This record gives sequence, C-alpha cells and structure tokens, in this order.
Amino acid sequence: MRSIKERTNRLGQEEDQEFSMHDDLMFDVAVVGAGPAGLAFTRSLAGAGLTVVLIEGQDEAALRDPAFDGREIALTHNSIRLLKSLDAWDRIPAQDISDLREARVLDGGSPFALTFDAGGADRLGVLIPNHLIRRALFEVVEGQPGVTLMAGRRVATCVVQGAAPRGRVVLDDGATIRAKLIVAADSRFSGVRDQLGVGVEMNRLGRSMMVCRMRHDQAHGHVATEWFDHRQTVALLPVADSQERVSSVVITLAAPAIADLMRLSPQAFAVEMERRLKGRLTGLELIGTRHAYPLATTWSRRFAGEGFALIGDAAVGMHPVTAHGFNLGLRGQETLAKVLKSARGGDIGSERVLARYERDHRLASWPLYQGTNALVRLFTEETPPARLARGAALRAGQATAPFKRVVKRMLTA
Ligand SMILES: Cc1cc2nc3c(=O)[nH]c(=O)nc-3n(C[C@H](O)[C@H](O)[C@H](O)COP(=O)(O)OP(=O)(O)OC[C@H]3O[C@@H](n4cnc5c(N)ncnc54)[C@H](O)[C@@H]3O)c2cc1C
Repeated sequence: MRSIKERTNRLGQEEDQEFSMHDDLMFDVAVVGAGPAGLAFTRSLAGAGLTVVLIEGQDEAALRDPAFDGREIALTHNSIRLLKSLDAWDRIPAQDISDLREARVLDGGSPFALTFDAGGADRLGVLIPNHLIRRALFEVVEGQPGVTLMAGRRVATCVVQGAAPRGRVVLDDGATIRAKLIVAADSRFSGVRDQLGVGVEMNRLGRSMMVCRMRHDQAHGHVATEWFDHRQTVALLPVADSQERVSSVVITLAAPAIADLMRLSPQAFAVEMERRLKGRLTGLELIGTRHAYPLATTWSRRFAGEGFALIGDAAVGMHPVTAHGFNLGLRGQETLAKVLKSARGGDIGSERVLARYERDHRLASWPLYQGTNALVRLFTEETPPARLARGAALRAGQATAPFKRVVKRMLTA
C-alpha cells in the first residue's frame, strides 16, 4: 500500500493550489471508510488488477493500532473462513479469541431458557474484540500492491455523473479523486450515501447500548447469555481469560439512563450493575473503559447503482442484538468483490455489472434484517400481551427442532 501523505500534505500549501484543482487523482475504485468492511473489501480486491484508494477520516496511527472500543464481535464459521482467506485470521492473537460454546436466551424473571449448543461442532462461533479485527485487516491491506491510503481525510462532496470514470470525490483538504466506482463503507450514518442521493430507512430507537468488560466471581464457561429483562436488555459475553472470569457486559436502556451509567465512578458503576444483574454475576469489577452506542437500524433503499456501491453498515445497519452486522458486512463485501472480478476488464462501474451485487446482497440481508427487527420488537414491548407472547415464543422455540436448527444454522453457517 502506498501512502499518499507526502503528496497530499503538499496540497494545502499555496504553490500547490493550482495543481490540486487541475490534477485529479485517478483510481479504479475509491473506498470511503477503512472500518472493518472497507478494509476487508480492499483486501478482497487483491490480485484483481485494480487500483484502489482507501479514504479514511481517522489518521494512520489510529488505523495501525486501533483503540479498544468495547465491541466484542461474535463471528460465525463463515466469517472465520473469510478472515482466513483474507490472511487476517492468523494476525489475531489466539489468546484473545474466545470460543462460544453455548448461547442462552432468557425472558424477565422466568427460569426458562432457550438454549443453543454447538451440537456436533466444537463451538458455535467465536468472540473477538473489534479493534483486533480492525488491526489485523489493516496489516494485510498495508502490504497490498495497488492500494493507496489517504488517512486523516474526510469526504467533503461526492458525485457520480457522465462517462467513466463517473465518480468524483472531493476531500476536506481540496484534493479531488476520480474513480470508476465509489464504494461507501462509511458506517450506518453514511455521508456518501446521502451525497449520492440514496434514500435510507432509518429507525432511531431512542435507546443506547453500553459495553464494557467486567471481572466477576463465577466462571462463564464460554456461555453467552442474552437476557430480555423488563425495561433493560443485558448480554453477558464470555471474554478470553485463563480463569474464565471476565465477561463483556452489554446493557441496553433508554439513552438518558445509559448517559447516567457512563457518569458513575467505576466503583458505583460496579454496584449498580450488580443490582441490575440481580445476582447473575457477583463481585463485579470494571476493567478498562465503557463505551456507549446510540441504537439505530438502517436499510438502504439501494445497495448499488451507476458508479457506486454501498457495503457494510452503509448498506445495512443491523441491531446488534443478533450479532449479525459485521458477519453480514463480510459476506456482502465478498459478493461485491466477486462481481467486480468477474467483470474481467469490463466497466466495473456500470449498473448492469453491479446489479448482481444489489440482488444477491439484498436477498441475503433482508431476512436477517427483518427477523432481527421483529425479535427486538417482541422482546422490548412491555405490554402484558407482549410479555405473554415472548414467554410462549421462547417455549415454542425450545420445543421446535426445525426452529432451533434454523437459528443454529444462522449462528454457525
Ligand atoms: C455494541 C456493538 C456490538 C456489536 N457486535 C457485533 C457482533 O457481535 N457481531 C457482528 O457481526 N457485528 C457486531 N456489531 C456490528 C459491527 O460492529 C458493525 O457491523 C461493523 O463495525 C461495521 O463496519 P463498517 O466498516 O461497515 O463501519 P464502521 O465500523 O462504522 O466504520 C466506518 C469507517 O468509516 C470512516 N468514515 C466515516 N465517514 C467518513 C468520511 N466522510 N470520510 C472518511 N472516512 C469516514 C469512519 O472513521 C470508520 O472508520 C456490533 C456493533 C455494536 C455497536
């Protein structure tokens, strides 16, 4: 990967103003956003003979060594396979990978649990801290020929028009990039999507999710628990730890209540969480930082069109409760990369070529997006009929082998 730092640093200087206006930088593909989806996609294009510019708002140091962001990403077997094929898997330290052997879903104070075990497999999936996935993907992209990184720059404007190369991206420092294809990987609140005039169905849920690591007395046994309690949802995720006494604690509440939790001292926070967990874990101690994420789900009206494509959260912003966001993002970027490679020298920005990505990724995403949203509605509705319905749903789910098979296939596929 070539860094364009020297050249673009000069763009801000007076003598280069004219140069910056007239000398557009030309690439086959401009990827906006070096999050996990943008990085994975860039890597998937290795060997395709395409020049790629990767534009990212964060600076290079933050990409090379991303800070812990609280997210522990549950990865399916398919995602593990994909990370291996991208040469990223071996760059994630083995001691930071936590096996997921069983998942339990609990409803309120009911002792009943819907459980999913690994069956014949050794594990349902794995949990890996998000920043380590980002770091591993950055490492593989860093050595990739044909890739130019423009870090510490944000996209100011972005249009697709005229004949190829149709894409024109102007950065906040005035640099202009021309590309046959613009790929938006700039999060569920994608500015590029807006600039390109792509509509989005966005549901701001008014709730936030707080994530942090906590030490506790009980061993977690590599079991993940999703507990839909009244007015709060709690997930306890097993973190890799030799004594199995560290979990990622994920709590979803109304946004102001999360803000209150964030303000508590570490000691007061531990006391409050023990109260909220109602004895499920004791001896709680906060390890490291707390992170809050406002919850919004998004579904883009289009995933691709003439000269552009959307990947990762920019295409589909899943509710994190079913842990599908990045798994789906990985799948989508693989689909898009295959479509571009199969164009074999044809126009990679043409709507005709990109239609296959649009169709295939929509088909793969729609059931997961709708299914997850239905689950969230069922489990967060507080009316007595809704509470009855979810108790019944859990029991029916546990008793229905095909249902459990489908859910398990989703977890382990
Ligand atoms: C609490 C939590 C738990 C989760 N757990 C799971 C899980 O268990 N399993 C799972 O599969 N998924 C999970 N997810 C979802 C997963 O984190 C996301 O799907 C994933 O991070 C999306 O990656 P992305 O690259 O599309 O977007 P992002 O990670 O949002 O990255 C977008 C990048 O674009 C950059 N950017 C934005 N705008 C611009 C601009 N204008 N110019 C330049 N750069 C820009 C940003 O700096 C950022 O680096 C979870 C999410 C949360 C919040």
